[in-house]
Amino acid sequence: MALIKKNTTIKEYQSFIDYVYGLPNDRYFSLGDMTTNMERFIMRGLKGIRKENNEKIRINLLIALSWFMSIMNRLHIDIEEEIWKRFPYLCSYCGSCPCSCKKQKINKRQKISINNKKRPKTLSQFQKMFDEIYPPTSRTLDHAGVHLAEEAGEFLEAILTYRGAHKDKDFKKIEKEAADLFSCIMGVFNSLEINTAKELSKMFSNNCHACKVAPCSCSFINITEFKS
Ligand SMILES: [Zn+2]
Ligand SMILES: [Zn+2]
Repeated sequence: MALIKKNTTIKEYQSFIDYVYGLPNDRYFSLGDMTTNMERFIMRGLKGIRKENNEKIRINLLIALSWFMSIMNRLHIDIEEEIWKRFPYLCSYCGSCPCSCKKQKINKRQKISINNKKRPKTLSQFQKMFDEIYPPTSRTLDHAGVHLAEEAGEFLEAILTYRGAHKDKDFKKIEKEAADLFSCIMGVFNSLEINTAKELSKMFSNNCHACKVAPCSCSFINITEFKS
């Protein structure tokens, strides 16, 4: 039996998703299919924001996050590493914590240096880091949602570009956009005071959250028509 612990690291979460969903993903879904599914659940989460339905936001973004991890596995991206490179306890743009982009009207990406001593260990610690860099009090939930939509679009665009010519520089762009997208999912969860690791540990207490088997044995139809 595989499960996600409350004190899971991002790396452990990523390998859990590989262990449980790697096989059906390989058999059923192309990279494009997986990206579409991730987008589908992000969209449902955004609808939850518009409808002020926190439960809808929570469940759909948790599923979106797990599709996101499947994409990271397909592309062999170590997302924890990419997140840390992009957000080393600092805003990736202005290089400060908390972010001062707005206050200082920063319009050029600043050079940032990485202090590995500050690196969070668990997913919860990473979430807390994002809470400190981008405090929810400095924006509304709607704003966090708009930002998430924007980053989801940029991530998709990076995947499309890479699929065009398979250039290394385009792959690097996917890694960066993936870290940005992850930060925006954390942003919405921070606005709602949802502890992602705790929720994942409840959802994934025994293999696949739907069929409770590993590798997941949900049928293709059940996966593609899954709604929550
Ligand atoms: Zn900033
Ligand atoms: Zn399943």
